[in-house]
Amino acid sequence: MIDVVLTGRGAVRAGTVYAIGRNYAAHAREMGAEPDPVVFLKPATSLVPGGGAIAWPKDSRLVHHEVELVLLLGEGGQDLDRAAAERAIAGVAVGVDLTARDLQDEAKQKSWPWARSKGFAGAAPVSAFVPREALRAGWDALDLRLEVDGQVRQQGSSTAMILDAPAVVQRLSRWFRLAPGDVVFTGTPEGVGPIEPGQRVAARCVALGVEVAFTLG
Ligand code: ZN
Repeated sequence: MIDVVLTGRGAVRAGTVYAIGRNYAAHAREMGAEPDPVVFLKPATSLVPGGGAIAWPKDSRLVHHEVELVLLLGEGGQDLDRAAAERAIAGVAVGVDLTARDLQDEAKQKSWPWARSKGFAGAAPVSAFVPREALRAGWDALDLRLEVDGQVRQQGSSTAMILDAPAVVQRLSRWFRLAPGDVVFTGTPEGVGPIEPGQRVAARCVALGVEVAFTLG
């Protein structure tokens, strides 16, 4: 089991990790897909709170970074309205939805699930979560930035999200029974690309004041 950190509140046992794909139009297009959000799951054991050294996933030669805003739920439920969905968000972090792109491409070709490409051990490094009540910026004003060995690879803002954070939770609650401790990756802006073994990857959100850094290899 994995505990994530909610700043000022301590450790929170992570539940189901939901992830949204194609939630930024420009990234959907760079992947040759329509900007129409899709849902997939990552095992809770793929979370790496605070980053660090992450092992390269077995049977993959191509791992891509996807920097994302990540939500921690403090309440659950089904069929939440927007206000309840927003209240259910206990904290916000920055994280990286690591993706074994070669395994994902094979899965797409063969109509297989994305589990292996998205769910390997270490596939979800996350920073500490900032309590929602402490947010100074609106849901549409959270910046995202990812650097590999000091070079900027991704730079974006939540203003470009098709579904903002409360809308993501509301949409998930239509299909799933959400629970306290669930974690939600909310999609990545354009600029995804490969990481080489040993490179230092750093993801940050200045508005939240959080960063997570790691190496893969
Ligand atoms: Zn992603």
